[in-house]
This record gives sequence, structure tokens and C-alpha cells, in this order.
Amino acid sequence: MSEPTRITVLGSTGSIGKNTLDVVARHPDKYRIVALTAQKQDELLFEQCRLFQPRFAVLLDADACERLRKRVATAGLEVEVLFGPAALERVSTLPEVDAVMAAIVGAAGMPPTLAAAQAGKKILLANKETLVLAGHLFMDAVHRSGSVLLPIDSEHNAIFQALPRNYTGDMKQSGVSKILLTASGGPFRNTPLEQLQRVTPDQACAHPNWSMGRKISVDSASMMNKGLEVIEAHWLFNASADDIQVVVHPQSVIHSMVQYVDGSVLAQLGNPDMRTPIAYALAYPERIEAGVVPLDLFAIAKLDFVAPDFTRFPCLGLAYQALRAGGTVPALLNAANEVAVAAFLDGRIAFLDIPRLIESVLGSVPRTEVHALQDVLVADEMARVSAREWVAR
Ligand code: NAD
Ligand code: MG
Repeated sequence: MSEPTRITVLGSTGSIGKNTLDVVARHPDKYRIVALTAQKQDELLFEQCRLFQPRFAVLLDADACERLRKRVATAGLEVEVLFGPAALERVSTLPEVDAVMAAIVGAAGMPPTLAAAQAGKKILLANKETLVLAGHLFMDAVHRSGSVLLPIDSEHNAIFQALPRNYTGDMKQSGVSKILLTASGGPFRNTPLEQLQRVTPDQACAHPNWSMGRKISVDSASMMNKGLEVIEAHWLFNASADDIQVVVHPQSVIHSMVQYVDGSVLAQLGNPDMRTPIAYALAYPERIEAGVVPLDLFAIAKLDFVAPDFTRFPCLGLAYQALRAGGTVPALLNAANEVAVAAFLDGRIAFLDIPRLIESVLGSVPRTEVHALQDVLVADEMARVSAREWVAR
């Protein structure tokens, strides 16, 4: 029998992190957890440490870190508890780690994910923000180190499955004419514009098909999530903005499609359960059982497709605009959106203020080229300052 794959899970207490551990727990002979990380959820991280016995656990909050150290010592676990962003990079680049699940939410997930790519680890990429912020630098690092990069985002995982196995990043050469990126349309798919002004954070987080963290749930409601995914697809598959068509498909059964020049369209279908793309990426190129209920086509009965509405969902257009502008503009878009979503979740701005805030930031912070990580970090900070001013105005 082959050696188990040794894994670091960045963001193990989140929605993707928990689903990852669920799949891992089904295959104890195949996978071993080396490190688990969380921002400040020490109680859940302790439970995960008890179950998976990692060598390292990382927290980003000093008090939570102290609490976990005490509990680990009392329980007699052999887990080294580390603190801070540098520790995230350390556990992502350890020689004993084969694969890194990048499942931290937001820009905070980018530095350790980039470090894992530079170290040549197999990367299971959920943190789409890494590609939005630093797509060029990240893909360069992947190619240079020879990392295997497997998308976890369900749409990109579907596209990866529908592309030829030997896809080199050349759509023309592979006979691909378009990437059809499906979107559920979120909880407000049919909500009239005048009602969107008054929607609450809880309504925005009540996704009809997927259970996810609050940030990505709001992004799904505004369709910024789809916008970020267009940028993600651009980097993953070397597709231009014109090559990527968003298709609203309310049932979330088709997770995306690839259209070929001969008229073929290949789709990946499944129940909306993130354990499918996670299991696919963990076992690639093999397949493993993931605990997912088999798809019942007779129960679904029909699949619908609608064109996206750029008027009610201006975030989608802003993301296309940022991709076309290039340079630091996608990083500005992402940072402005993170501040806007946090302010919306705190009840400080209205739902329709999210695109207004982003448009204002894109109009006021100048675009620069991205030559190095520093360019991205500066742009990210400038956009956050400008966005916070907008919220406080
Ligand atoms: P989540 O909010 O449920 O979990 C986030 C995880 O990151 C938690 O473990 C949290 O402790 C950690 N974290 C948060 N802020 C941090 C910080 N500043 N520093 C270090 N760690 C931090 O998020 P999620 O829904 O699991 O999403 C994770 C990533 O996966 C996001 O980039 C999201 O876009 C992507 N994604 C999620 C889904 C989904 O179904 N949830 C689907 C596709 C892509
Ligand atoms: Mg997705």
C-alpha cells in the first residue's frame, strides 16, 4: 500500500475546512493531517486536534492560542501550538507536507497559499482571493516549482474535469471555444431592485442551494462571488474575459461547462455538496467515496438556464471591468469588496451600497502594474483605507 498523503489544512474550522476533514476521516489509510489552522476558534480547533492528532495547530489570535496551548497540554496531546501569520507560512512549506488545502477566507489566505506554491506543494485551492489578488505571481510560482494545482471552487473543479486531461492552458489548441461558468443567482435571483436596498444580512446569507461561510454567502447574493470566479477562471485556465460566459442556473446541479469548437458541451453534474470537489482534488487522478448523496435526476426533473442581469447585480460587471483593466485593479476590487461585505454584515451599509463603495474605490485609487507582491499589498491597503473612508462618510 502507498504512503498516506500528508496534508496541511489552512482554515480547518471553516465550511471548506470542515468538509475537508469529513472526507479525510473517511479514508484514514490515505490521508494524514500534519497541520490545522484557524483564526480564533480554539474550541473547534481543539476538537479537530483530538480527532486528527496533527503535529501543528496554528491560531491568529493570541488569547485563543494560549487557551489552546493549555487544553492541549491538559489532554496530553502531542500538538505544537503556533501563533501568527508566519506560522501559517511555516506549516504550508514544511518538507513533510505533500498537499495544502488553502481554505482561509479573504486576502489573509494569499501569503501562505503563495508560499505553498513556491515550495512546490500540491495545492487544493479554495481561497479564490489568492488568484484575484496575485494571479500572475501565483501561477508563475506554480509553474516554476512544478506544483500540482487543483481547484476546489465547485465551478472551477467542474471545468477542470471537463477540460482535456492534458490541457496546457491553450484553449485554441485544445479545441475549447468557451467556458460556461454557472451561477445559482443566489437568494435574490428574482428580487426586484427596489427591494434589494432593504435586504438584511441574514437574508443575504440564506443561500438556496449551498451552505457556506458568511463572507462568500454575501458575495453569492451580490454576484460578486461569480465576478471573483470569472477572474479565478481567467488565471486557472488562461481564458480571457470574452472566453468566459456566466450562465445563471438556479438548480446548481451543473457546476459549470466547457464548450468545444465541434459543438460539444461537456458538463459536470452533482448535488451541491463541496465534498465532491474536495474528494476529487484529494484523490486526483483517482476517485474516492465522499459521503455525497447520489444525484437523483428524476427528482430534479428539469434544469433551467438564464442570462445574468448586470443591472440588478452590478458587482458582476465591476469584476469583468477589473479583469479587463488588469494590474492591481482586481486587488482593489477584492479589498473594497471585503470592507464592504464586513460593513454590510455589521449593519453599517445597505446591500446596494456594496457596488457603490467598490465603484468609488476603483475610481479613486490609481491602477499600477504588478511586478512583485509588494505592489499587491500596497494596492490592497490603499483600497481598504479608501473603502473605510466611504463607510465612515
Ligand atoms: P469560512 O468563513 O467558513 O472559514 C474561513 C476559515 O478561515 C476559518 O477556519 C477561519 O478561522 C479562517 N480565517 C478567517 N480569517 C482568517 C485570517 N484573517 N487569518 C487566518 N485564518 C482566517 O469560509 P469558507 O466558506 O470555508 O470559505 C473559505 C474559502 O473557500 C474562501 O476563499 C471562499 O471563497 C472559498 N470557497 C468556499 C466555498 C464554500 O462552499 N464555503 C465554495 C467555494 C469556494
Ligand atoms: Mg463557486
